[in-house]
Amino acid sequence: MSFQESDERRALRAAVADLGRRYGHDYVVRQVRKGEHLDELWAEAGKQGFLGVNLPEQYGGGGGGMYDLSLVLEELSAAGCTLLMMVVSPAICGTIIARFGTDEQRQRWLPGIAGGERIMAFAITEPDAGSNSHRITTTARRDNGDWVLSGRKVFISGVDQADAVLVVGRTEDARTGKLKPALYAVPTDAAGFEHRPIDMDLAMPDKQFMLYLDDVRLPADALVGEEDAALLQLFAGLNPERIMAAASSVGLGRYALDKAVNYVNTREVWGKPIGTHQGLAHPLAQVKIELELAKLMMQKAATLYDDGDDLGAGEAANMAKYAAAEAATRTVDQAIQSHGGNGLASEYGLGTLLAASRVGRIAPVSREMILNFVAQNTLGMPRSY
Ligand SMILES: Cc1cc2nc3c(=O)[nH]c(=O)nc-3n(C[C@H](O)[C@H](O)[C@H](O)COP(=O)(O)OP(=O)(O)OC[C@H]3O[C@@H](n4cnc5c(N)ncnc54)[C@H](O)[C@@H]3O)c2cc1C
Repeated sequence: MSFQESDERRALRAAVADLGRRYGHDYVVRQVRKGEHLDELWAEAGKQGFLGVNLPEQYGGGGGGMYDLSLVLEELSAAGCTLLMMVVSPAICGTIIARFGTDEQRQRWLPGIAGGERIMAFAITEPDAGSNSHRITTTARRDNGDWVLSGRKVFISGVDQADAVLVVGRTEDARTGKLKPALYAVPTDAAGFEHRPIDMDLAMPDKQFMLYLDDVRLPADALVGEEDAALLQLFAGLNPERIMAAASSVGLGRYALDKAVNYVNTREVWGKPIGTHQGLAHPLAQVKIELELAKLMMQKAATLYDDGDDLGAGEAANMAKYAAAEAATRTVDQAIQSHGGNGLASEYGLGTLLAASRVGRIAPVSREMILNFVAQNTLGMPRSY
């Protein structure tokens, strides 16, 4: 075990940080105000090979793992420009297709996902199931060799940018009982597929959507992976999701902390920098420690995942996501506090991070569900629900 990153990873970190700095948080805020996405940054990151670092080389990826992909998202977020769809397209969908797709599905999707030319969204959340995925009712039935998919999904990110959505459903045979998920790649222009934006109070360029799937007819090969083993396949995608959510929170926290430190070191109201006062210095030191601890757990989760230990990675990924979201939320709050009135002035760009940092405590899995997981699985306590 080494806590030193390889020269290759350090170089990747530096190159991504450089790209992030060239765009910066001002670019994100400008795009949000125009109602536009981060297309230029996304395209450039794709061209430089950053979006697909985790995907196999033979399908246009970089041949690395989740450690590398999480490093990319952490550095972009630390520059103030999180690419939310990285959590979904290369991390969840790319991973699932690379690990469980047919060779034809890999050929069809992975090069585009790696290069950023194609985007795949991911839909598991349903209005009536919420955190209880066992209650999802999106159902696929067979019809003359095709699949016919119907259901509703909510809060699905980036559908307007996506070529397809990887939809978590269940087959007609497994309609009730414990979730036996089946995963379908659904083109966003398929007949019977409709998406409507949800009004969100988030200063983020990626929007969330309600999905309506009404008898969407799909060819047999829309099914990704096994019909019967998809729970394992689903978790193979959800662990990367949690690692990436942690990366985005760690990066965002780093961004806010940098701004705060810079401000308290220069702003004077009593004849010396306000950072001299321990009332400001200690909370910033505290969140620095919390961010570093969360990052360490994220790196452990990614390392376990890349080593093929899905179970160990699951526990670490949950803990990392929890810790990073808590740390980022506290960091943004403290960064705003450190700026006084300027903390909420548009010029300083911190107010825009308030809701964004908060998202990490709710999605992709809420903090309470992680606490449930740790209480039951790590500590062996009884299930409360
Ligand atoms: C910005 C954003 C982007 C998103 N993007 C996607 C996406 O791309 N794809 C996708 O599929 N989903 C996405 N989601 C959905 C997200 O994963 C869900 O919102 C999240 O899992 C919580 O589900 P819910 O909103 O239904 O809350 P609910 O399940 O209704 O929970 C409400 C509250 O009750 C708590 N709670 C529920 N059950 C328990 C329990 N047993 N014990 C203790 N507390 C409990 C929860 O923790 C939460 O605090 C996104 C959400 C947001 C906000």
